[in-house]
Amino acid sequence: MGTTETTRVAIVGAGPAGLLLAHLLGQSGIPSIVIDGRTREEVETTIRAGILEQGTVEILHQSGASNRVTTVGSRHDGIELRFDGEGHRIEFAATVGRGVWLYPQHEVLKDLIGVLLEAGQDLRFGVTAVAVADVDSDRPRVIAAGPDGERFEIEADIVVGADGSRGVTREAVTGSHGGFYREYPFAWFGVLCEAPPSAEELIYSSSPDGFALISQRSPTVQRMYFQCDPDDDPDAYDERELWDILQARVPGTTLNEGRIFQRDVLRFRSFVAHRLRRARVVLVGDAAHTVPPTGAKGMNLAVADVVLLSDALRALLTENDERLLDAYPERALARIWKAQHFSWWMTNMLHVAPDATDFDRARQVGELRTVVESEHGRAYLAEAYTGWPLAR
Ligand SMILES: Cc1cc2nc3c(=O)[nH]c(=O)nc-3n(C[C@H](O)[C@H](O)[C@H](O)COP(=O)(O)OP(=O)(O)OC[C@H]3O[C@@H](n4cnc5c(N)ncnc54)[C@H](O)[C@@H]3O)c2cc1C
Repeated sequence: MGTTETTRVAIVGAGPAGLLLAHLLGQSGIPSIVIDGRTREEVETTIRAGILEQGTVEILHQSGASNRVTTVGSRHDGIELRFDGEGHRIEFAATVGRGVWLYPQHEVLKDLIGVLLEAGQDLRFGVTAVAVADVDSDRPRVIAAGPDGERFEIEADIVVGADGSRGVTREAVTGSHGGFYREYPFAWFGVLCEAPPSAEELIYSSSPDGFALISQRSPTVQRMYFQCDPDDDPDAYDERELWDILQARVPGTTLNEGRIFQRDVLRFRSFVAHRLRRARVVLVGDAAHTVPPTGAKGMNLAVADVVLLSDALRALLTENDERLLDAYPERALARIWKAQHFSWWMTNMLHVAPDATDFDRARQVGELRTVVESEHGRAYLAEAYTGWPLAR
């Protein structure tokens, strides 16, 4: 083993969770080291989330993490649910007085990396956590490997697992306990294309052939998804086939077509770890939970965890008060399970299961009507989609 470095908080993962946590801790004068196995370029260019809840935008803006989120991002005050050939707008602003912003996750990461490096943050790319040692002690250690494979360790008061759903910290915390897990019999085929927007707001369309989501990125680039088989090969379709599938699933709208320059198949999973904390090792974001993407909750949940955890670590490390850290798992899980429910509900309401019967399909339309024709149904969707207020 090589050198041992020490810090107050060792953060594994430079996704939205790890970077925002380092930023909020830094503002309270709490030093941390952040490591990520990927290069800076990979982190800054991987296309993922795009819909930010109002609370996420507020925390990014107010903390100085991103000013571009409100200047470059675009606010949306509603979405459309389309089924049976008809569109129904779910109005956010008038219903719950909140909205969402379209601003890509990798732009959030670029903004965070910029402000962190400017503030002198110790942020290391190409450094992979191999394991967490002394998990049950009050000085846990991250065993890490640098870009050339050289081993070293980071000893800290707290280790935070922000390393996503395939990291190493989850197992260090949950051990053999794992978590609650569910798979889905469908996935999303996602495309990025060079075309003008086809609609002003997002369209969530449930058609007899399956679901499609028409989403926007910028005046010249659009993001769209359609329901597919989890084992589909992204390269098995030519561009014409992709446009025909998408077009058939949003009857009533003529899509603006253009060159498709990225395609991927995104599998659906729901997961909640049985433990979010073991002694002084804590999980946040996708390391603690995964949701199917239909409700756009993944990144937003990561931010909500971090807001709670940053308050808890500030109390612990500046006032020696452990009560908020003790309360972290229960407080975080309250929101996580609400978001799990919302994501599961939106997914099942809008997608056609491979074994769906005529009864199932007719019932689903009944469910969609229950939502769009009821003031309370629309209000629940608007409230959950724009995000419950962040607890501090
Ligand atoms: C196509 C797609 C669309 C999505 N759309 C939305 C949306 O609209 N709204 C929304 O809220 N969410 C959405 N999500 C989910 C969202 O992207 C994730 O929930 C979010 O990235 C979680 O952030 P995180 O920081 O917890 O984890 P991640 O973003 O996964 O970051 C984890 C980091 O840890 C690093 N890492 C992993 N293992 C190690 C290791 N051993 N050592 C060091 N580093 C390691 C990884 O390289 C990575 O950079 C979407 C996801 C996908 C894939």
